[in-house]
Amino acid sequence: MQPMPLFDLARLPLRPATRFAPSPTGYLHLGHVSNAVWTWGIAQATGGTVLLRIEDHDRGRCRPEYERAIREELAWLGLHPDRESRQSDDTRLYREALERLHRTARVYGCRCSRAAIARRTGSPPGEGEELRYPGTCRGLGIPPGEGSGIRVMLGDETIRFDDIRLGPQEHTPARQCGDLLLRDGTGNWTYQLCVTVDDARQEITLVIRGEDLLSSTGRQILLGTMLGRDRPATFLHHPLLVNHEGLKLSKRDRATGIGELRAAGRSPESLLGEAAWRTGLLPELQPLKVSELAGLFR
Ligand SMILES: [Zn+2]
Repeated sequence: MQPMPLFDLARLPLRPATRFAPSPTGYLHLGHVSNAVWTWGIAQATGGTVLLRIEDHDRGRCRPEYERAIREELAWLGLHPDRESRQSDDTRLYREALERLHRTARVYGCRCSRAAIARRTGSPPGEGEELRYPGTCRGLGIPPGEGSGIRVMLGDETIRFDDIRLGPQEHTPARQCGDLLLRDGTGNWTYQLCVTVDDARQEITLVIRGEDLLSSTGRQILLGTMLGRDRPATFLHHPLLVNHEGLKLSKRDRATGIGELRAAGRSPESLLGEAAWRTGLLPELQPLKVSELAGLFR
């Protein structure tokens, strides 16, 4: 096997604390396997650890059978986390983060729906589109509670960070997304708040995730600073898998679900190899054992 390093391996920190953080809103697919290959591979190559974090902040969409499947399929792949957590086990920390922001920043209630924000900003409300919240409810005195979300006002600072693979990045969250939603109108804590709080309290030092989350990084670093994190994590954003139409894989691409692939007779080694190959870590399609993942990053 000849690994193809996609970045300067010397930039990887020694003994990082990393995490694999799926949402139990569907079954794992090959995109998750690629993230697992990068995460476990780098952790093994550098003497680091992997936290399995079940990101079940969206209570309406999460289901226990998906969580069971995540654990079962990871074990089948031979990927074992060093520690585990589940967001819904301790929501007190998100409330405390909100209280801290109340004391140090301007936090306000917001009744805007996604569609209303899209209409106001003239953006198409396509799924996954970045919508910039224009600050409509600032100063309206809307009490947080039934039917209204909670946002925090962002300053216009530019966040600079050096992605291990992609190099220096500059984000200005106030211009990209506007004031961040912390809790939505149904009472769910948002992805951005939960991830920021969790990465800090769990002392994650290296975040390894797909390029689709690159735009979230500046706002998470900024929110982390507002919440008192001294030193942000280091970030590595890896290439995404694409499906046969050249589009990012999603849960709708059922043919890539781990359960289906397994039922069709695929082995863990063949899935690990395909996930590595389809994110550029191998020059050709070949099976890969868990014990060989570290070799991709040495
Ligand atoms: Zn609003």
